[in-house]
Amino acid sequence: LGVAFRSILDYRTRAERAWEGARRFAEETLGDPDDLWGVIVAIPEEDWLARKRQYGLHFLVQGHARVWRIAQGMVQAWGGDARRIWSRQSPATVLDRLNALRVGPQIACMIVGALMDTGLLSGSGDVKADLHVRRVLGRVLTGEMLSETEATELTRTINPGNPWAVDGPLYSLGKDLCRARAPYCEKCDLSRECRFAEDQ
Ligand code: SF4
Repeated sequence: LGVAFRSILDYRTRAERAWEGARRFAEETLGDPDDLWGVIVAIPEEDWLARKRQYGLHFLVQGHARVWRIAQGMVQAWGGDARRIWSRQSPATVLDRLNALRVGPQIACMIVGALMDTGLLSGSGDVKADLHVRRVLGRVLTGEMLSETEATELTRTINPGNPWAVDGPLYSLGKDLCRARAPYCEKCDLSRECRFAEDQ
């Protein structure tokens, strides 16, 4: 299943839920077609919108609708072959192309990062400044959640060579220990430097 398709569903929902929904839809509902984007666009938009519940791709109407819109852009601009977006390109170019498809700025960063992780792109990229990343960084530094911009800029100073490299550790920390409610500070390696933990 393509990284771009999985990632665009990681929109205002839990990553695990989004990725499982993407897999189920592509493999079980559509039969794992080679031309996934083309198959989606071949469904008239109004039919697509009417099948939100049947497809079970995203719990939000907006989240469901944007899949069709992005698929349309993918077919029009790239012939439905997402690999053409990143083949032999720099991360900055890929980011521009993804932003032109309006996948969302944070999801664009995540796709670039995932492509670097899998060796399909080389270079550096920004974190996906999601709730976990913003919460961990914010709590450590100020005790409060950072904005997307603040978190992105901060990771550029933490690891200027490749800010994306800190995305995974921050995401995991936010998901496993630094939970929104009742974080496990006693188990966290950052507890001695963390403003939030200090204030508790
Ligand atoms: S010490 Fe607590 S609040 Fe601070 S980063 Fe770790 S889990 Fe989060």
